[in-house]
Amino acid sequence: MDGERLSAALLELEDEINWDAAAMLERAVQLEELALALGDELLVARARLSQANLHMRAGDVAGAARRIWKVHQWAVEHDARQLTSRTHLVWSNIHRLLGDAAQCLEHAVLSVELLDETATDHMRIWHRVKLGDALSLSGSMDAARLRYRQAAELSSRLGRPDLLLAVLNNFAYAEYAAGHHDRAQQVTGQLQDVAKTFGFRLDASLLDTIGAIQIENGQHAEAEKTLLACIDLHNDGNQDDADALAEYLLTLSRAQRCLAAYGRAQRSLDASRRLCVERELGHVMVRVHQEQAELHAARGEFAEAFAAHKEFFATYTRQHSLQREAQARTRQVMFETEEARQEAERFREQARRDPLTGLRNRRYLNEQLPGLIATDPELTVAIVDLDHFKRINDELSHDVGDRVLVQAAKLLETELAAVTPRGFVVRLGGEEFLMVLPETPTEQAVEKIDAIRRTIKGFSWETLTAGVPVTVSVGVAGVADAGKATQPALLSVADRHLYAAKHGGRDRVVWSRTRHGQASAA
Ligand code: GH3
Ligand code: MG
Ligand code: MG
Repeated sequence: MDGERLSAALLELEDEINWDAAAMLERAVQLEELALALGDELLVARARLSQANLHMRAGDVAGAARRIWKVHQWAVEHDARQLTSRTHLVWSNIHRLLGDAAQCLEHAVLSVELLDETATDHMRIWHRVKLGDALSLSGSMDAARLRYRQAAELSSRLGRPDLLLAVLNNFAYAEYAAGHHDRAQQVTGQLQDVAKTFGFRLDASLLDTIGAIQIENGQHAEAEKTLLACIDLHNDGNQDDADALAEYLLTLSRAQRCLAAYGRAQRSLDASRRLCVERELGHVMVRVHQEQAELHAARGEFAEAFAAHKEFFATYTRQHSLQREAQARTRQVMFETEEARQEAERFREQARRDPLTGLRNRRYLNEQLPGLIATDPELTVAIVDLDHFKRINDELSHDVGDRVLVQAAKLLETELAAVTPRGFVVRLGGEEFLMVLPETPTEQAVEKIDAIRRTIKGFSWETLTAGVPVTVSVGVAGVADAGKATQPALLSVADRHLYAAKHGGRDRVVWSRTRHGQASAA
């Protein structure tokens, strides 16, 4: 499979709302292997994000959290906007499942802000819907409605009635959950119209939502009919989540209780309870006990109602603490992964610094300099070597020598930062340093470097060296001076000039006034 076809295959996983998570996960793993074989990092990252998303959908929130960090990091570092927008959406969902409304909202906002011309239609619509969900979760229903309407309008304009249905579904559910049952009913009405116009069959979970809204609005007989249709549809073999049928039976039982059809209500409730036991659906079971208490109370069986209520309370508490434990575990995973990432970064940074002076080291230089040489025709470098440093070591002590090195390094760094903010200083080794001055033509650089030389000479070293002077010799080279624009060529010109400075009597800056020309002193 080539890159283009692989990208298209990934898009099928990315721009999809309803799927069978287990089967799709296998597909995502396969696509990651293909991307690895192609050596395409972006495709690998996309396949991994799909996996994180699918783990989340399948209920493995910790697994999703563990997988998403690296992908997110990669996307940010490589300025992959579309991917970053998608990772924020998955983050938002993870935080929603963890019950953190603030983080859920923050990531949803970013997932919309990052939409640009590379975003797919699906992203433009769906990221706004999820922002609507996040806003309604944090109690900002007006702001949420605005996003749902934008998403609905976009779906119509882009000719996506399938997405329009999904938008209205989430919109209706948000109104229902916020207790605006009349508004919820309006939205489901719209939804049913769209389905009819475009010949879509409403899916079972949608019918369940519609039925629940009808119950709240006192349309109990309609609700029972809706729920019976919902269960028929489910039994026709559609691919709902494991807890779906238990939920539908529970809603049906509620409608039947409201109709005073207590016998039917009890049978529906018993069927739901059996499924909860069979499939270990703790979170649905809690509500089965609650509904059982209501049903006993409606029949005037108050002792039984009280017993059922007690059972509801016990399972509710147990379920709640299980949920909290699971959330704590996921947070732990997220925390550990973030720690590990920061640790790696600290290590990376440390490995590129000289431990004595804290300056950059050769490793850093070797990573940075070739790129600068290739792109900056006005780059200038200067090798700085302390004069007669051996004397300080010999006449004073190695320890004083160290302190002189640290002080000299500090002077070089602050003085250079003052004249070229983008420049940096490297400790090449021993008492030898390299100053790197981007976008500074040699002649201009020499003036600045010579001023730094004078600052070092003029520093009050007495307390440190008891009168032994500290001066430096400097060899300068510009990219234009080197015959070939390579790191060895540039450094060898600077080194030649340093040698000339030493021979010329030290405490001076040497450079070439003309290309490949004769050395001259500042
Ligand atoms: P010149 O003016 O020709 O550069 O003379 P110099 O004495 O500075 O040069 P030379 O290369 O002969 O001696 C450099 C000395 O720097 C030798 C070495 O012991 C000392 N040195 C190298 N690294 C360190 C260090 O980390 N700490 C201390 N205290 N001394 C160091
Ligand atoms: Mg020296
Ligand atoms: Mg030296």
